[in-house]
Amino acid sequence: MPRRTKIVATLGPATDNESVLDEMIRAGMDVVRVNFSHGTHDDHIRRAETVRNRARAHGHQVGVLADLQGPKIRIERFQEGRIELETDDHFVLDVKLGTNDGTRERVGVTYKKLPDDVVRGDTLLLDDGMLVLWVEEVNDTEVHCRVMVGGCLTNNKGINRLGGGLSAESLTDKDREDIKVAAEMGADYVAISFPRSADDIHEARELLRAAGGHGSIVAKIERAEALEVLEDIIKAADVVMIARGDLGVEIGDAELPAVQKRIIHVARSMDRVVITATQMMQSMVESPIPTRAEVFDVANAVIDGTDAVMLSAETAAGRYPAKVIEAMDRICAGAESQRTSSAAERRIHMHFKRADEAIAKATMYTANSLGVKAIAALTESGATPLWMSRISSGIPIFAMTRHVETRRKVTLYRGVYPVSFDVTTPDHATVNKEAIDELVRRGAVRDGDMIIITKGDLMGVHGGTNAMKIITVGEHDIMEQ
Ligand code: PGA
Ligand code: MN
Repeated sequence: MPRRTKIVATLGPATDNESVLDEMIRAGMDVVRVNFSHGTHDDHIRRAETVRNRARAHGHQVGVLADLQGPKIRIERFQEGRIELETDDHFVLDVKLGTNDGTRERVGVTYKKLPDDVVRGDTLLLDDGMLVLWVEEVNDTEVHCRVMVGGCLTNNKGINRLGGGLSAESLTDKDREDIKVAAEMGADYVAISFPRSADDIHEARELLRAAGGHGSIVAKIERAEALEVLEDIIKAADVVMIARGDLGVEIGDAELPAVQKRIIHVARSMDRVVITATQMMQSMVESPIPTRAEVFDVANAVIDGTDAVMLSAETAAGRYPAKVIEAMDRICAGAESQRTSSAAERRIHMHFKRADEAIAKATMYTANSLGVKAIAALTESGATPLWMSRISSGIPIFAMTRHVETRRKVTLYRGVYPVSFDVTTPDHATVNKEAIDELVRRGAVRDGDMIIITKGDLMGVHGGTNAMKIITVGEHDIMEQ
């Protein structure tokens, strides 16, 4: 049985090497994340191109996710590159200070309205919560703080407020430029950082379409405010990412596990796709094996029902970019083999709005009850396999399509595998036979196995799926319709 949960790996300096990418593809990387917080436009375009070339050489499909930086509020730079803060020190965030002029007493910040947004008594967290500041006093251009938890502070580290509410605009000028680059590189997914509302998602989608991009929109849930309008944001997006780094800093780490489970549940029940991200295998930045806690974290996300698990620094800047994918692959497959993660949820009370959605879901209920071995979804846009994969199942769903964009898109969907399939004859018997032959060739089924094929009367038409056919492999004859 192939692994169902998908693996997203971030590209970076540690992966700028074709033989490393080859190992990562062999280890089972499904989607690459290009992080627009670091690197130049040329880096991003080159990285996406290299990955696609290597994937093609392996006969694999790898999706590309462009992750925009968003309005991450950061400190600026220190004269010496780093400082050491001790507990009880006095430290000033100074919006007037020069970009490179930070000292042990004060540092600049990228967000010039910071003094308007914080008040005495606020807690500010630096570097994903590694350092903690308490706001003592605020004037027009300075935020005076007391160090509650000290440590080493280096250039450009992020600032969050405990409880959220720092109100930098969601799509920055840089994001608007980066969306054009994402369109140019043909990104399959574009991730919006720190969205506050559904409107942020709609706006990003419009900008991407205006730039000619076809990618789906990923909403990163990483602000406390986003949780208050979670359903609206999920509805506006195609995919949600549980961005546990920033989210954990804003809402406190104790809230995170329950929030993760809630987001996964809501996303799946709204027919959206969900990625669980950040620090999943953090120790493997340095170490060749994961900690037991990391093994459990990845396995629990799989059991929660996530579509994909994500690696950040582990691959982008880690010592073992391929080994960490191998470890994730193994852990996901192990977790999936447990009954807890394959039991079908019954959503039979649901009302379907469309024929293709009804067929997709009926297929899964039938397949789960009948002991079907594989599903062949003949698809144009990938909508049918997406609906199918929202119903928990251990049965592989093959998204068979002539469109390379659809094959790349489904790389993120749990339990869905892209297959290049280009049969344009109107003769259904021939199409059925070719679909079955393809599954047999892949070793997915053999004579005597039951499969389900879904397709439309008019093949090649979006939204046209209106039929499911149950076939026993080896018994189909060419005259069947
Ligand atoms: P980032 O987003 O890695 O772009 O910050 C993920 C997170 O915040 O967890
Ligand atoms: Mn983040």
